[in-house]
Amino acid sequence: CSSNKNKLCCNYHQFATPAVSTPSSFSLNYLSLKQLQLEGYLKFDNLEHAAKDFGNRCHFLPLAVLYPKSVSDISSTIKHVFEIGSKTDLTVAARGHGHSLEGQAQAYQGVVISMESLQTPAMKFKTGELPYVDVSAGELWINILKESLKLGLAPKSWTDYLHLTVGGTLSNAGISGQAFRHGPQINNVQQLEVVTGKGEVITCSEEQNADLFHGVLGGLGQFGIITRARIALETAPKQVKWIRVLYSDFSIFSNDQEHLISTQDTFDYIEGFVTINQTGLLNNWRSAFNPKDPVLASNFSSEGRVLFCLEIAKYFNPEVTDSIDQNIDVILSKLNYIRSTLFLSEVSYTEFLDRVHVSEMKLQENVSHPWLNLLIPKSRILEFAQQVFGKILTDTSNGPLLIYPVNKSKWRKGTSMVTPDEDVFYLIAFLSSAMSSSTGNDGLRHILAQSKRILNFCEETNIGMKQYLPNYKTKEEWKDHFGHQWEAFARRKSTYDPLAILAPGQRIFRRAE
Ligand code: FAD
Repeated sequence: CSSNKNKLCCNYHQFATPAVSTPSSFSLNYLSLKQLQLEGYLKFDNLEHAAKDFGNRCHFLPLAVLYPKSVSDISSTIKHVFEIGSKTDLTVAARGHGHSLEGQAQAYQGVVISMESLQTPAMKFKTGELPYVDVSAGELWINILKESLKLGLAPKSWTDYLHLTVGGTLSNAGISGQAFRHGPQINNVQQLEVVTGKGEVITCSEEQNADLFHGVLGGLGQFGIITRARIALETAPKQVKWIRVLYSDFSIFSNDQEHLISTQDTFDYIEGFVTINQTGLLNNWRSAFNPKDPVLASNFSSEGRVLFCLEIAKYFNPEVTDSIDQNIDVILSKLNYIRSTLFLSEVSYTEFLDRVHVSEMKLQENVSHPWLNLLIPKSRILEFAQQVFGKILTDTSNGPLLIYPVNKSKWRKGTSMVTPDEDVFYLIAFLSSAMSSSTGNDGLRHILAQSKRILNFCEETNIGMKQYLPNYKTKEEWKDHFGHQWEAFARRKSTYDPLAILAPGQRIFRRAE
């Protein structure tokens, strides 16, 4: 692991047992895996890609990568690792699209399963009333969108970026601007097929094996590998009116966001972002958006200011909707944004949902992504904003800073996903890119120090924050994160993955010896 050279990388050693590096355990693992009869195959060399992820800060080389052709390949491999039990300390990690941030889909000297290789089942749609699609969990959301649109259908809830796998986002939650209405992606799943840490293949849903179903949703890959998911669909719109407006006062901005997520006559997508000291902000928008009033917009200056952008969208079908603009005007008239900053655009539904793909940073050797995602209860959001935006964080040049509220009432109950204890809470995503070699404000050290200050502030003020895409190092921190849900989480681990074989990169449980 390159972490030995760089203290800013994650530290595996706390979880590595001495046996990992001994030649005898290496040979045992290697030889025993070689004997497996599979429809797909295991690869033991050129595995560097499996030791990389979007975060680009953790690099744990596995012993092998499994390219499964069938669910039984996954089941046989895990069963084998389970049966040799404590003779080895082999672990197994499902790797979706590898867009984790801190090595969560990696397994040091273990087996990484390339989920995108699992092409079965082929996507199977049920149309008519209550439509759904059955997909392989290694499928990318962008492919599901493209295939469902051919039938005039689409999933209801998304992530901002669609080149992620179903299994990867369901292991977290899958949150975007539709979550206020439909809940996160884990709400819009009706059934799963899961291979547990003992190698059993189990179908689960609200009605069947509900404990496993709830555990796996938001379960950080701890209880099983999702191999198939049944995703609820709805009639897809064709076009989207995409709108941005600015605020200079956080309370007015957040009041408007909270109003929009609480009324029926509202937008279909509600997000927002913060910009701090951005030069020519509105000018930059002009490539994709049109100002409602170009003259007033050109006089607006963003320099040196903390501004809050409400980003909203209304879906429609031009063949059946003729009053979309009037409808939008009515909703906008109830908001209190700076009138000169109204920018509008019209795009296809696919262009809208796939909007982040064009700007996604490539996996570059010298760029890392020390992202921080927080969930903050509504009652403390003003305090958070006052302390963080413009004080701890004095500019947003290192990457976007998203902020939007969601309704907990729309969240499925009993899943492993942890949220703050309030009916409405905000997702705040600090999506920074860092130059590994820089010692300046764009450097990893600076950004990590800033994140630490934000986390310290949350802790000192007991603000009720929960991390999304959580990243902790010690069991105590994990217990704290899960709070009253810890007992159920630990019980499910001992039921479904008693040897702690699965998803070692989350660093929650230690492999049983
Ligand atoms: P991986 O990184 O491959 O895996 C993530 C974790 O899930 C690992 O622990 C892995 O072992 C486990 N896992 C993977 N597949 C399976 C499976 N089939 N069964 C069980 N466990 C599995 N999240 C949001 O909620 N909303 C967003 O808008 C959003 N936008 C993003 C934009 C970008 C550019 C990036 C990089 C990430 C974004 N994320 C967002 C976070 C993203 O949802 C998670 O990082 C997700 O885990 C990535 O999916 P993946 O397929 O790359 O998973």
